[in-house]
Amino acid sequence: MNHDTSILQLKGIGEKTQKLFQKLDIFTVGDLLSHYPRDYETFKEPVLIQNAVPGEICTIRACVVGIPNLKKIRSLSILNVNVRDASGTVQLTFFNMPFMKNLLKSGGFYIFRGLIQTRGIKIMEQPRLYSQEEYSRLMQFIQPRYALTKGLSNQTIQKAVKQALTFYSFEDEYYPDEILKSCKLVSRREALCSIHFPTDYDSLVVARRRMVFDEFFLFLLMLQKNKDMSCGIPNPFPMKDSPSVASFIKSMPFSLTNAQKNVWGEIREDLSGPYSMNRLVQGDVGSGKTIVAVLALLQCVSNGYQGAMMAPTEVLATQHYETIKDYTLKYELPFRPVLLVGSQTAREKKAIYEKIASGEANLIIGTHALIQEKVYYQSLALVVTDEQHRFGVRQREMLSEKGNTPHVLVMSATPIPRTLAIILYGDLHISIIDELPADRLPIKNCVVNTSYRVKAYEFILKQITAGRQAYVICPMVEEGELEDVENVMEYSQKLKAFFPSDVTIETLHGKMKPSEKNRIMEDFSSGQIQVLVSTTVVEVGINVPNATVMMVENAERFGLAQLHQLRGRVGRGKWQSYCIFISSNEKRDTMNRLEILNKSNDGFYIASEDLKLRGPGDLFGIRQSGDLAFRIGDIYTDADILKQALDAVNWLLKTDPDLSDKTHQPLKEYLELKCKVDFYGISL
Ligand code: ADP
Ligand code: MG
Repeated sequence: MNHDTSILQLKGIGEKTQKLFQKLDIFTVGDLLSHYPRDYETFKEPVLIQNAVPGEICTIRACVVGIPNLKKIRSLSILNVNVRDASGTVQLTFFNMPFMKNLLKSGGFYIFRGLIQTRGIKIMEQPRLYSQEEYSRLMQFIQPRYALTKGLSNQTIQKAVKQALTFYSFEDEYYPDEILKSCKLVSRREALCSIHFPTDYDSLVVARRRMVFDEFFLFLLMLQKNKDMSCGIPNPFPMKDSPSVASFIKSMPFSLTNAQKNVWGEIREDLSGPYSMNRLVQGDVGSGKTIVAVLALLQCVSNGYQGAMMAPTEVLATQHYETIKDYTLKYELPFRPVLLVGSQTAREKKAIYEKIASGEANLIIGTHALIQEKVYYQSLALVVTDEQHRFGVRQREMLSEKGNTPHVLVMSATPIPRTLAIILYGDLHISIIDELPADRLPIKNCVVNTSYRVKAYEFILKQITAGRQAYVICPMVEEGELEDVENVMEYSQKLKAFFPSDVTIETLHGKMKPSEKNRIMEDFSSGQIQVLVSTTVVEVGINVPNATVMMVENAERFGLAQLHQLRGRVGRGKWQSYCIFISSNEKRDTMNRLEILNKSNDGFYIASEDLKLRGPGDLFGIRQSGDLAFRIGDIYTDADILKQALDAVNWLLKTDPDLSDKTHQPLKEYLELKCKVDFYGISL
């Protein structure tokens, strides 16, 4: 059994289960083994109710008192029941689980596990129920918790992974001994086993370290290659200043901030200079990066070339297309834009390909579709990637194969401290937009516990009545993905039950068809949808200035930088905007961490404070930011590993730049394999 073996070869996986795994992008044993747990759970001895600490997930062993009380509020069923041990009482609440009424016998003893909260009395919502036997078994090991999909349980995944680990023939170690020793790395085999089934916390930390190192090391090695490839390429598409840019700047609806002017100046110089441009524009959410990209693209088409703009999602690409189309009409710009995205039919795409090849289209906006093999450009001179972070090596290569190497402009809102930026963007010049447009009112924030929900809903209703719109973010898509965490599907039902029926509430998440996502986003942009219940798919780039409320459920599960990105979806227009972060964990350090968002609206400050507050115990579960393409590494919390990987890469390239030494063959082979498979997509 190796990386490419189909998961059908595993016992217990038939065609039906295979389909479920495919929903999680797991096709092969290799995919399965790199489906790392999203977090881990330790099952400790049940505690006495009097010792169960609010804000913590606790297990209690208690006896049902009296008959459970079932009531219905609109379409929501609520079951309340008290349970007791020798030390105290807890009230349990089950939502939409009316069958529990018959399951929980008065006087019966059960094991319940869930988050302890207090509302005068101690309560536990949606607890999980275990038999004594089941629970004892769980107590023996640290349990991995995987990202799930409806119909596929954590246990099924655990079983499959266990089998795969037993029969997998591991590749040979590819690091030379020097690196293994100096960086104190365990073998890949050991790391993979422990990341899925750690025997204790220490083995988990060591395993994770190896995985993170691998990601960083390979990335940095590729980066080094990229740097050699892209530095000092003579400018094949020199661009002169164009009168249409100057007149657009004069007539557009706002005046550029000084920061925008400076950055535009730097780009202009690059485009007319001796070398091909390779520039990153970093600017906090809402700082106005799009317009800077539009100016660059305008310069490009005015010089008779084609320009392209690439976004990570169809939703964002479509939005950019609409914005630029509007500008084109209103200000008579020389753009002839087309949109190219994966969900278009083969026929539609063919027509667009023809327009691109003939030059009839001079601005191509889209997702990855626009660098696919079938697209031939007439004279592509500039590629802007928005919120992409980086332009992968393979992507650049693919474009060069289509003609000359175009200028590259990368736009990112992820706040990265200067020291890290130098490592991660070693091959790019950096421009920073460090100023927000002057007309913005600072966003008002609050961090609260779940008891504040009803008030929050009432507040949202008021904003909607005043003509505004709201986002509500849940971490999960549907029921059953992860327990104790809100999901979009059920939550929208809850909201519909609360709000008057004329309020339009819709859902948006990554598992929807792209065309459906686009429709929902368009309806939200145009104001037809008032409340959008969504996963973090709205995190990047979306611009709906009429939306003034951002409410985030289970805020404790997100990295602060990510929450800051989410917050950046509001406060983009002239109205006062609000952010409500709901935490279902009232532990002091969780609240303290979230409070940082209260203190600052500055992405750089937030990311660095978050880093200071986090200990090694926080390494699992929370990822700082969604838009860095590392699977497991986190550039903030793993900055030390990043540095170590950088040193190792530098050492290697100094001692053996072509990896021709015999001891470096396994690494070279592994790299070649990786380049083909992975690095096409890596968009860090
Ligand atoms: P981001 O940097 O997050 O990509 P956008 O480019 O989407 O931000 O800009 C956010 C909003 O601010 C848009 O509605 C845009 O039209 C507006 N905007 C951009 N620059 C300015 C400016 N100089 N003055 C006023 N509004 C601006
Ligand atoms: Mg943007």
